[in-house]
Amino acid sequence: EKGQIRVQTENIFPIIKKFLYSEHDIFLRELVSNAQDACQKLKTLTVSGENKSELGDLKVTVSIDKEAKTLTIADNGIGMTSEEVDKYLNQVAFSGAEEFVQKYKDASIIGHFGLGFYSAFMVAEKVEVFTKSYKDGSKGVYWSCDGSPEFELYEIDKDDRGTKIVLHIGEESAEFLEENKIEALLEKYCKFLPIAIFFNDKQVNDTNPLWTRKPSELTDQDYIDFYRKLYPMGEAPLFWIHLNVDYPFKLTGVLYFPKIKQSYEIQKDKIQLYSNQVFVTDEVKEIVPEFLMLLHGVIDSPDIPLNVSRSYLQGDSNVRKINAHITKKVADKLDEIFRQNRNDFEDKWESLGIVVKYGMITEDKFLEKANKFLILQDASEKVERTIEPKEGDEKAETTIVSKPKFYTFEEYKTATSATQTNKEGKQIILYTSDPVSQDTYVKAAETKGYKVILLDTLIDTAFINNMEMKWENTSFVRVDSDIVDNLIDKQENSDSVLSKDESEKLKGLFEAPISDLHVTVEVKGLSQETAPVIATRPEFMRRMKDMAGVGGGM
Ligand code: ADP
Ligand code: MG
Repeated sequence: EKGQIRVQTENIFPIIKKFLYSEHDIFLRELVSNAQDACQKLKTLTVSGENKSELGDLKVTVSIDKEAKTLTIADNGIGMTSEEVDKYLNQVAFSGAEEFVQKYKDASIIGHFGLGFYSAFMVAEKVEVFTKSYKDGSKGVYWSCDGSPEFELYEIDKDDRGTKIVLHIGEESAEFLEENKIEALLEKYCKFLPIAIFFNDKQVNDTNPLWTRKPSELTDQDYIDFYRKLYPMGEAPLFWIHLNVDYPFKLTGVLYFPKIKQSYEIQKDKIQLYSNQVFVTDEVKEIVPEFLMLLHGVIDSPDIPLNVSRSYLQGDSNVRKINAHITKKVADKLDEIFRQNRNDFEDKWESLGIVVKYGMITEDKFLEKANKFLILQDASEKVERTIEPKEGDEKAETTIVSKPKFYTFEEYKTATSATQTNKEGKQIILYTSDPVSQDTYVKAAETKGYKVILLDTLIDTAFINNMEMKWENTSFVRVDSDIVDNLIDKQENSDSVLSKDESEKLKGLFEAPISDLHVTVEVKGLSQETAPVIATRPEFMRRMKDMAGVGGGM
């Protein structure tokens, strides 16, 4: 037997009400998006010639009536005939938006699943709809429903085109009659919607946000101003990437590289996700690779559905493509800045380095590209750089400043190939994790002609561990991990006349009486050229002892 599953409406309603959305707040986003869609559709029908009525200033108005305990969302968009009300509102999960998109290929429509309207019942005991279609000779239509499967539908007199939705707010949802609450929700979800929204006679949205505009029309100041709008407390960003993809998915947005200070806790969850200018979430974990969550800004993609769960997002193929695309864009931008203005790149490395290293650890695709622009800072060597005055700045003079020296991985290898490969032919990267306390070791290594780099940030331990696995034939050696002669394990000409056992014994003999002096004893054997036994004591330890007034010179 074959047949059709039947749904008992009395049962399905409470389920929709309860489980459709985790947050009740969402109802306002849904109703305002429907009003936006109604206006957007009318625009499209005007372009296609199907709408003959005067378009006028399209707008959405939100208002509260505390006494009547109602919240009203009104628009002068497309409106509905009574057949349409029956089709769109009386049929749960029938999306008029989807139908419209299929017919008109209108990508700016927000609606999708045909469930948004019902979110009104999460906060309202009763919903009333007053609507009139744009179509010639249309009559006004009234629809109301108290959340049960029964509705009322009849003709009324209505002068103006469009739809007014009146929510009779339930007792337990009284917060939605507070102006502050509604203002905050509009600010959160509707701030950048394309059709003007008014609340208390004030427009609440920027209908033309920066990321929807052409990069060629925008100045640096525009980007900085927009950043301020998103993060009023934030310091100016270092640079930004304007995303604009049409195929195989749609994606626009602006990502900012913020200044990251070592001493500050790193702030994640700063990127906001939009779908056709409607705010969706600021938890972008599934959309943006983890390391890029350090960035700030906005991503807008109608291909990331509004109403779906996080676990769904993870498996969504568009989301995975978007993820890969953003990673590539960021890598390309970093590469471009590095090649075009290396000085600028080096100056910003304190902030950039954290993002780059995090990315190299977690994303192999990024690692591939980042190998070319990762830079390693020399622990002490400085280079001089000439800074020319900016054009038009007459007073300023050319200055020469001293800046840290940086190597790419390749440059470091080239500079140290003769001195810093061990007996297995491995490249040794000598580093200091604390240039102050390890100062003596750094100096000793440099005197020997080695190049020591600075890896002293929070992420560096993880970075070192990961790169030892990912970079073939490379070892990181901390500069104070052994006496300078042993840092690079070179081929020894083993002319010692002592066996290994005998050497150890001899070492013990020397070490025992001076163990409290923190010396390292090395038994070289009995060759003519070198001292048979060398005892060394780190400069740092000696100074410590001297300061404490103990121990003497060696
Ligand atoms: P969706 O927006 O996903 O299609 P909704 O449940 O939010 O689903 O809305 C169902 C349908 O009701 C819409 O597609 C639209 O056809 C109609 N509708 C809802 N609100 C309005 C409105 N303000 N003006 C005109 N039509 C509307
Ligand atoms: Mg909708």
